[in-house]
Amino acid sequence: MNLFDVYPLYPITPVKAVDCTIYDDKGTEYSDLYSGHGVISIGHAHPYYLAKVKEQLDNLNFYSNAIQNPLQVELAAKLGKMSGLTDYNLFLCSSGAEANENALKVASFHTNKSRVIAFHNSFHGRTSAAVAVTDNKKIVAPINAQQVVTFLPLNQFELVEAELQKGDVCAVIIEGIQGVGGVDQGTTEFFQALEKACKAHDVVLILDEVQSGYGRSGKFFAFQHHGINADIITTAKGMGNGFPIGGVLISPKFKASHGLLGTTFGGSHLACAAGIAVLDVMEKENLIANTNKISSYFMEAIKQIPEVIKVKGRGLMLGIEFDFDVSALRKKLIIEKHIFTGGANNKNVLRILPPLTITTEAIDAFIVALKESLAELKA
Ligand code: PLP
Repeated sequence: MNLFDVYPLYPITPVKAVDCTIYDDKGTEYSDLYSGHGVISIGHAHPYYLAKVKEQLDNLNFYSNAIQNPLQVELAAKLGKMSGLTDYNLFLCSSGAEANENALKVASFHTNKSRVIAFHNSFHGRTSAAVAVTDNKKIVAPINAQQVVTFLPLNQFELVEAELQKGDVCAVIIEGIQGVGGVDQGTTEFFQALEKACKAHDVVLILDEVQSGYGRSGKFFAFQHHGINADIITTAKGMGNGFPIGGVLISPKFKASHGLLGTTFGGSHLACAAGIAVLDVMEKENLIANTNKISSYFMEAIKQIPEVIKVKGRGLMLGIEFDFDVSALRKKLIIEKHIFTGGANNKNVLRILPPLTITTEAIDAFIVALKESLAELKA
């Protein structure tokens, strides 16, 4: 059997990774400024994390739901404390798409409506059955997301308000900071207007923090930069430092009932051990403070590069915008300078999403490599 060929691949075969460094099968060292789409939060193969996961592996602890798992309770308590959302409830699942699907389901059940508002250049996971309609509170049928999602431009609140007034919207879903779209974000004014309008129209505000969460923005969740509350927050990527785990943080205004949501793999002992280890390390090593420190350093250092039009994003979720397609630059950085960076749907944006443990030395090395690469591409 061959692989279903959906990803363009660089000719690199990683065999080992430690903190912010990746080693390939030829022994070449790469600096990781991308973390596999922002998945690595506490650094590759962190020893405390490995020990916690291994403890569960050694116990053959693969069971998930329908049995009591104290690690789920521990993870929820730690996540509540670190995010400040102590009164929210946690539903555990295995990916960002699954977290968003479940968030949309809760919104649909709660409002008995099905239309969703999302924004241009957003990405909420690859799912075609994002919303389940309800009839007398029972699931009738999944509806293809394309049929029920209305996409609007970011930061144009009047357009959102006009849609909400139609009375058929169950949820507004928005990323704290857009990821693959190109690292754009809502203004504080826009987020605050959304929160207010969602309340007024009894529409559920879902913050997709799958990529922007877990300290990456310089606060635990990116929406917390805007002084708002969300009804539901979804998270995944950095939550497990590479182990597949997702979470839906649900405000206490939503009542749980047995069978409302479900999952096979979500909340396993292994996933919870990974999730707990991530939070322990984030706290012990002050990784949110490091994120802010390195982000400021990066913003200063990047001023040395005149080709940069602007730097978008916050914390260590950054998009460097140029006035040309960055594909060749990105290829040069990885193949010749041995630095992983990311691309975006906006072809002029180079994405920087390193582990939150990254150092100023790694940023300095990136700036040198970027200068050299730009000069070489011009020559
Ligand atoms: N939401 C956002 C903001 C994402 O960036 C992604 C993945 O890139 C997803 C959802 C989907 O997550 P997953 O690939 O884990 O399903």
